[in-house]
Order: sequence, then C-alpha cells, then structure tokens
Amino acid sequence: MRTPTSSLLKSLLQNPSPPSSCSVETPSRAHQLHAHLLKSSSPSVITSIYSSLGLIDEALLSFSSLPSPPPQSYKTLIRSSTSHGLHAQSVSLFIRFRASGFVPNHNFFPSVLKSCAALRARKLGESLHGSVVVLGLDSDLYTGNALMNMYSKLGGSGDAHKLSDEFDDSIVRMRKVFDEMPVRDVVSWNTMIAGVAESGLYEEALSMVREMGFVGLKLNAFTLSTVLPIFAESVDVCKGMEIHGYAMRNGFDSDVFMGSSLVDMYANCTRADYSLRVFDLLPNPDAIAWNSLIAGCVQNGMFDEGLSVFRRMLLNELKPMPVTFSSIMPACAHLTTLRLGKQLHGYIIRGGFEDNVFVASSLVDMYAKCGNICVARSIFDDMHVPDTVTWTAMIMGYALHGPADEALSLFERMALENGKPNYVAFIAVLTACSHAGLVDEARAYFDRMRKDYGITPHLEHYAVVADVLGRAGKLSEAYEFISKMHIKPTASVWCTLLGACRIHKNLELAEEVAEKIFELDPKHMGSHVLMSNIYSAAGNWKEAAKTRVAMKRKGLEKQPASSWIEVKNKVHAFVAHDKSHPCFDQICQAWEVLEEQMKREGYVANTEDVLHDIDEEHKRELLCGHSERLAITFGIISTPPGTTIRVTKNLRVCVDCHTATKFISKIVGREIVVRDTNRFHHFRDGKCSCGDYW
Ligand code: ZN
Ligand code: ZN
Repeated sequence: MRTPTSSLLKSLLQNPSPPSSCSVETPSRAHQLHAHLLKSSSPSVITSIYSSLGLIDEALLSFSSLPSPPPQSYKTLIRSSTSHGLHAQSVSLFIRFRASGFVPNHNFFPSVLKSCAALRARKLGESLHGSVVVLGLDSDLYTGNALMNMYSKLGGSGDAHKLSDEFDDSIVRMRKVFDEMPVRDVVSWNTMIAGVAESGLYEEALSMVREMGFVGLKLNAFTLSTVLPIFAESVDVCKGMEIHGYAMRNGFDSDVFMGSSLVDMYANCTRADYSLRVFDLLPNPDAIAWNSLIAGCVQNGMFDEGLSVFRRMLLNELKPMPVTFSSIMPACAHLTTLRLGKQLHGYIIRGGFEDNVFVASSLVDMYAKCGNICVARSIFDDMHVPDTVTWTAMIMGYALHGPADEALSLFERMALENGKPNYVAFIAVLTACSHAGLVDEARAYFDRMRKDYGITPHLEHYAVVADVLGRAGKLSEAYEFISKMHIKPTASVWCTLLGACRIHKNLELAEEVAEKIFELDPKHMGSHVLMSNIYSAAGNWKEAAKTRVAMKRKGLEKQPASSWIEVKNKVHAFVAHDKSHPCFDQICQAWEVLEEQMKREGYVANTEDVLHDIDEEHKRELLCGHSERLAITFGIISTPPGTTIRVTKNLRVCVDCHTATKFISKIVGREIVVRDTNRFHHFRDGKCSCGDYW
C-alpha cells in the first residue's frame, strides 16, 4: 500500500458496510471507490485486493494489464482461480509463472494440486509432485496434504470401469507421501483414511482411525463420515450406531456433513426410519442431506415417506437436483401414481433437467411402469445416448405391456449400439418372449446369454423360461428344464410349472409338482390356491375342499382380491365381495346396462374360475366378487367419455374379466389399462395388448 487512502479503500472494499458512517451502500459508490483505487494504487495491488475479495473477473482484468506480474499477484490469482473452480486457468497461470522463471514456494502447490485433481490431469499432477520433491517442499504439511488429496481424487470415482491399475497406483503414491511426512495433522489423517476407505481397504481404514487416536489426534466430523460408509457397505448397523454415539458425545451430530452420512448409513442398513429421525434433528440440512433421505426412503420401500420428504424439501425452498428426481421417480413407478409422475415431469421440463441421462432414464422407467408406454418411448427416443438401465427399462416396458416384437427389436438394437446387455436386460427380453408365447426365441436368448455373453443364469431367467415352456404346453420339457437347473430350484420356480399345469389341465403332473413345492416350502400360498383351483376345474370338489382346509390349518389366508383406480386425485379401492363403496348402487346399475350390450355383442360368461358354490344367477354377487369389474365400471361412470381408465389389481386378472373388459373397451370406446401382478393389459377396441396370452 502506497498511501493511507489505498489502505482505507482496501478495508472498505473488504468490509463494504462497516458500522460507521463511512460505508459503501450503493453500486455507484463502489464504482467511485474503484476509480479512486485505480488512480492511487498499482495494478498488482488491485489484483491482490480483487482476488482476496473473490472478485475474480476484476482481478483477471487488472492482472492482464500487468506487463510483468510479480509472484505475489500470481499467487493470489492462482488461489482464487482454484477456489472459484476455474481449474484450467489456475493451472495455466502456474505454467506461465514457471515459464517466467519464478520458483514456487509452499504457498503455490496446494491450489495447483487441487486444480490438477479436479481436471483429472494425472501426468501434470505427477510432475508437480516431482517439483515438490526437488524443491524440498515435501516436508511441508499443507503441500503434503494437498498431494494426498490429489492422489485420492485421481484414484477414486471417475470412470468406474477403469479403476484397478490407476487406482492402486494412486493409493501407493499417496501412502508414500503420508509415510514420509514429518508432521501430520487431522487433515493428513482424514485424507489418508478417506482414500484407503474409498479403495475398499476397510480394515486398514478402521485401523488407521484407531492409530489416529493413539497418536493423540481427535477424530472430527469428517473422519467419522469417512468411516460411516464402511459400515453402510457392510450393513453393520451396530458399528454405525457406535460412531453415531461418538458423534453425539462430541457434538458432531448436528454437523450437516455428518448428518448426511448417518442418513445414508442407516438407509443402507435398511433402517430408513432412523434416517428420518437423524435428519429431523439436523438444524440446517443441505441439499445433499435432503437427497440422501429421499433416496433412502424410496430404496427401502417407504414410498409415501419419500414423497412427503420431497414435498417438504420443496416447501423449504430447496431446489431439487437431477439426483432428486431419479431418486423420487421410482416411488411414483411403484405406487403407479401417474398423476404425480406427470407433475414431476413438468417440474423437470421447467427446471431444464430433461437432458440428464439419469433423470430421463427414471422418467422412461416411471412411464413404462405406470402403463404409459408411448410417452416412455418418446422420451427414450429423444435421449442422445441412453444407458444400459434406460434400454432395459424400455425393453421391460414392452415386455410388460406388449407389443413383444418391439421388445425384441429394441434388444437387438441395444446389443448393436450399446454393446453388452446385462443379466437384467436378458430378464426383460425373456419376459417379453414369455408374455408373447415365443418359445423358440426364449430358448435362443437363454442360450445366447450363456454362450455369447458369459452370463450365468439367475433364478429369474430359469423361472421365465420354465414359464414360457409350460404355458406353451411343453410341460415335460419345462419339468426337465427345471430339474436340470445348475442351482436348486425354489418353490416359486416350480410354481410357474404348476400354473402351466392348471392352464393345460394336467392334474397328474400338478400333483407331482405340488409335492415338490410343499417339500421346499410347506406354506407356499400361491401353490395352495393353484391346487385348489386345479381340483375345482377337474370337478374334484373333495380334494379342492381338502386343500382349502389344509390352508386354514397352516394359517394361510387367501389374499382378498382388490383393485384400485384413481379418479379426481383420489384413490378408490375395491375389495372382492365388498359392497361398501358409496357408489355401489350406481355401479350395479351401470354394470347391468353394460352387460346387456355385451351379451348382444356375443359375450358369454366364463365360469371356469368360479368356485362351484357361487350361484351363477346372482349377477350382483358375481359382479362384486370381481374387484376389477367394480373398479372399471366405477371408472366409466365417474370420468368424462374418452378418458383412459387405469386399474391396478393385486392378483392376476381372471379369464372372464379379461373377456368382459375387451367387450367393454369396444362398447364405451375407451382405452382400459389393467395392471395385474404379472403384466399390463391395454384393452382397446375389443382387443388386448397381451393377445390373450398371459
Ligand atoms: Zn374377474
Ligand atoms: Zn390382456
């Protein structure tokens, strides 16, 4: 500072509104001061002032007017470039500094090394490390910490596919820096522990935490939040709770960084209820904490809680990020609340997030699962480079909704464009084959998966192939296929064959398969129901009754069939044999009108699935015994003509309702989408997307 004026100016610029009368209250006053400053100070002083104030553009401007900037100006500008995330600039300033013949001291390296890490400039980082050693600065604490931090960043994250070699190398170099440091502080230890933990060397990380205590250093919030993911990974909630206890005793539990790690750890250990409690105690949760909590709830199946946290986040005026949407969207998909999904979609468009691959992918998945396959496809088609997850979501969408040939052709495109379909993609394509009854294709994909892609079949793959064989009537081939599985078949794999036995009315095989199932799982609900139906269909009422008695004895209660429909933002649930809905009488009247028309069009009620003790003449009884009919009829009378009707059922749609719904779709001229436990049925103009194969 050359004059008292400039020091006054500097102090004013650093603190624009001091309590005295002498303050900078308006932009014009600031500009006046700036003009004064320009007259009274040298450009290098101005550069320093602006840099230290964080006015990076102004600092650069005055720096560029210096013919030969002094080292001090370089130092401040490099520092503030790095702290403003202008990493390339920081590095290029440093190179220019070296080219001017200056020798850096300990003040330079921490910033440049940080920028190197951010740019993932490994070669440059290593050569800087070389300079540090040559200049004898490797004994400097801050430079050493910065070196380790750089190696941990260069080794971690980035391209997950290429970890291995570079990662190992980084850890080795980091370890060397750490070992050779004459003095280490908490930051040195934390950096080292974080790097070691991230490379998966959990035991070593934990032993370093203990060592840190031995040398008399106190663990801080950062150390603890480095260690927590280890317990999250190993799902060790007890150890995680110990850390939580330590944090509480030392007053770190209100630290937001610590809080987020605790939320994550509990959610990973399937204790999202604890995550909620930890979160609610945080004084000022940041966006990361909110997002961790939303993801934690949704991943643990607490969909309603996840949605309510999301709403609270918006009320707190926190802007959602791409990760927020990809975390919350599965909740909409699971609850099949298309309305909410659409609202979120609107939000995504307004926020300009639709180009984010994770967001777009979660939208595709949500629309596909909610039954709106066309919108899913158009979002998919707009994506530049869909990732494996998106391809798979789209293929699965077609598999569940039909048309199956779209699923198969997308799978082939995926194999060409995206490289490697994974085991989930194979589940999707096999499901498509199964839902369309494509036996040869299913066999071919199953072989290709093992031979061309080296994927060992999982239970899901076996179950789908057994299902497709069985339903096509190839019962003995299905039996053989299951018997030869390389893993022990589960009750549910056998149960797919039992289902096929029912369709093809093979009582003998059904009894053999049922025996196998009850050996594996005596309380297998689905098989009991199937066996009772198989006996009923064969007219063997005695055995049917016996099965039902056995179920009662084993404490198995048949799940009551129920269907849901959302009308005017309200979910209406209909349970079989339940007449409690306030509109029940109107529904019955509407049904009678519909049934008359259906009969004129050629509908004949199929009573095969109905137990013998139900009186066929009791129309009302028959109607209310079928929850999906109640829901569909209610949908027709309570929505404007032309509205698509979307119904969800907790069991499979029965044969008779399937036929009836085809007639209804034609008579009322509406699309009716029914999601059952197995797939989606899109009824339109007298036909169903499943092609009557389900
Ligand atoms: Zn039905
Ligand atoms: Zn169908």
